[in-house]
Amino acid sequence: MFNIEKIRADFPALQQLINGQPLVYLDSAATTQKPRSVISATEQFYARNNANVHRGRHTLSEQATQAYEQARLTVANYFNITASELVWTKGATEAINLVANGLTEQLNDNSTIIISALEHHANIVPWQQLAKRTGAKLLALPLQQNGCFDVQTCVKFIEQHKPSVLAITHASNALGNITDLDPILHAAKRHDAITLVDGAQAALHLQPNLPQLGCDFYVFSAHKMLGPTGLGGLYGRYDRLNSLAVYQTGGEMIETVTLAKTVFRQTPAKFEAGTPNIAAVIAFAAAIDYLTSLSKASVYTHEQIIFNYAAEKLQGIAGVTIYSSLENNIGTLCFNYRDEHPFDIATLLDGYGIAVRSGHHCAQPLMQHLGINGCVRASFALYNNHSDVDLFIAALQNCLELLD
Ligand code: PMP
Repeated sequence: MFNIEKIRADFPALQQLINGQPLVYLDSAATTQKPRSVISATEQFYARNNANVHRGRHTLSEQATQAYEQARLTVANYFNITASELVWTKGATEAINLVANGLTEQLNDNSTIIISALEHHANIVPWQQLAKRTGAKLLALPLQQNGCFDVQTCVKFIEQHKPSVLAITHASNALGNITDLDPILHAAKRHDAITLVDGAQAALHLQPNLPQLGCDFYVFSAHKMLGPTGLGGLYGRYDRLNSLAVYQTGGEMIETVTLAKTVFRQTPAKFEAGTPNIAAVIAFAAAIDYLTSLSKASVYTHEQIIFNYAAEKLQGIAGVTIYSSLENNIGTLCFNYRDEHPFDIATLLDGYGIAVRSGHHCAQPLMQHLGINGCVRASFALYNNHSDVDLFIAALQNCLELLD
């Protein structure tokens, strides 16, 4: 049974006043709040279990190594993958860079990379740089005016351009729209393209089964999944992952080093140079344990109820333009009010304790596509309730009156 009050009580940050008002946190697309178990796992690690991992012969180091590798298993289980297919990175950004850099020797000026205008900059710029290094062509999938993909058009586009690489988001960070990945990934696979899915936004809400999804690479950020900042992950189908050139080099990722030559460790260790963010990995496993202790279906249903409630209320305000698709959405509402500046709306809302984001959301090509400079984004997660929506809408109406 999904108990929203119990869930809210698990998140200490939600219990505070901001500007004298109860915090209404609607910025989970930027980063989620953390349950108490994640905060205590971090504290516990530094207070008691702190030691560097791997190679240490003392008890603390062995315990830290065990907890660290157990955490890899916990997160791998969440995605239904094996621990050897999971590389720790410092975020989704680094995970995409790792892949894009690792593919440099596999592409040339006959290659085509396909991305889309819906992407976060993190899933655009590394591919632009890869195209620059290799001479590959960089193309964008056609996007409908409303920011949704027409799947048939995308499939035709892929068949026409036969890409070597396809990188696409699972859900838009700006709009929340969920991509219908199946037909797009199938089309790419028919041409043996290497496929990367940016799961930074979707991994929390959709809890994807990655082998079933069928992409070669999937990236995510722990801090958008109730976990700590400074940690992300890269899933790679083992053969694809193993075929990437190493990204960073140094300690931890080596088997042997002489002054003349280095032998790397096996995948995934060869992609993890240097001392990892051990506390974050262990705390992230606590976040995953928290999530999986709840029923996936009831979390999703709750999130959709709150999203639909908010969408309906927002639609009722004259002068508001909503850019997000109201179907197949992870729970993000992007909007503007007449020609008011989104920063002004976000700043006024903050006075009421409402945390939303405004601007281009690291998706400038999407903003250009929509013909706007930016918008206000209210993004929801499992801990939001009806009262959050009511407070948000009431505050928004007051702010808009002030702006009129
Ligand atoms: N992709 C998407 C869709 C995102 O929303 C984000 C974060 N806003 C990223 C990539 C980059 O994630 P990070 O900053 O955690 O590396």
